[in-house]
Amino acid sequence: MEMLAFAPAALALLWGSVLLAFARPLVARWREPVLRQPALVIESDDWGAGPLEQAAALRGLAALLRRVHDGSGRRALMTLGVVLEVPDGPRIAASGGSEYHARTLADARFAAVREAIQAGIADGVFVPQLHGQCHYWPPALLAAARIDDAVRAWLTAAEPAPTEALPAALQARWVDAARLPAAALPPADVDRAVAEECANYASIFGAPPKVAVATTFVWNETVEAAWARCGVAVIVSPGVRATGRDARGQPAGVDRTMLSGQRAPSGLIYLVRDVYFEPVRGHAPQQLVAGLRARTRQGRACLVETHRCNFLQARDASLAALEAGLAAALAAFPGLCFVSPLELARAMRERDPAWIETRWRPRLAAWRARLDEIPRFRRAARLSGLHFALALLRGES
Ligand SMILES: [Zn+2]
Repeated sequence: MEMLAFAPAALALLWGSVLLAFARPLVARWREPVLRQPALVIESDDWGAGPLEQAAALRGLAALLRRVHDGSGRRALMTLGVVLEVPDGPRIAASGGSEYHARTLADARFAAVREAIQAGIADGVFVPQLHGQCHYWPPALLAAARIDDAVRAWLTAAEPAPTEALPAALQARWVDAARLPAAALPPADVDRAVAEECANYASIFGAPPKVAVATTFVWNETVEAAWARCGVAVIVSPGVRATGRDARGQPAGVDRTMLSGQRAPSGLIYLVRDVYFEPVRGHAPQQLVAGLRARTRQGRACLVETHRCNFLQARDASLAALEAGLAAALAAFPGLCFVSPLELARAMRERDPAWIETRWRPRLAAWRARLDEIPRFRRAARLSGLHFALALLRGES
């Protein structure tokens, strides 16, 4: 008899200690807003100053997005992470590689690219956001070009070459990766560069950026604070903030993890983008649907990352894959909503009841679906038997 009475108490103690050990990530996922309906954001980076073939690719994308509507009749949309300048190779070469010069998106040579972006914005299918003045830190690139022939050739090319061709570490804007591990930038330089890029963005798009996504997802507190001062309200992240590049050039120095809807100290709101759809890497349309299904179960919006390189390297195949992915997503989730990051962040900030779930049962089910991503929690829950109790929350008993 005593043993029987003891067992439930021991179990409660065991489960309680597991929950306590993981209290922080568990509570964070409970506080994270739960969406009422499936929501999809297609996010595409690297557009803007650069190869002129972008104009035709953008026109193809806009035509595709105009054909696709969600249940409310809203057109599909794609965010464009915009880059505002590329190197002026001939002028840099003329200086013997000692001076950096740029061609900006405002340059007449990029008129067709600008017009394709603006036409898509006017039709509501493109939503621009800041990716960076450039997809590198210019002094780091100059320094790297002195010791690396390939970087020097890239930097001094007569026609702007795609930044995707640079070593990955050098594509980060907010570190000095001329030598690895990358060095931090002086905060005053960051402040000046952010103010400049926000002003340049405003001169092209009519207003400073509201949403920013750091190149290669490397940025830090100084960058965030400077963006906030310029009016940026939302940062798109992969769920972690890497602040540097290590000796092998990999993103490193993670100093923060974040969930969608979470507030930064600077007042910015984070969104998490963690579904990947890169047709040139072999991602099939079903990958987009699988990502949407998983995020919907978690009560999250599905932010899909796809880069311009898909639409430059294999335009027709990538457009077809995206169209098939959108069609499959709408077929699988007739209640799917297309939404912009800014709208999503506003709904989360204001806890808009049209978007954000308030009922306990769906919130518990979404919370349960989020727990498997917590490192080591899944194993602890299984070993302790807690997963049986948690399964009840999802109606899996
Ligand atoms: Zn990029």
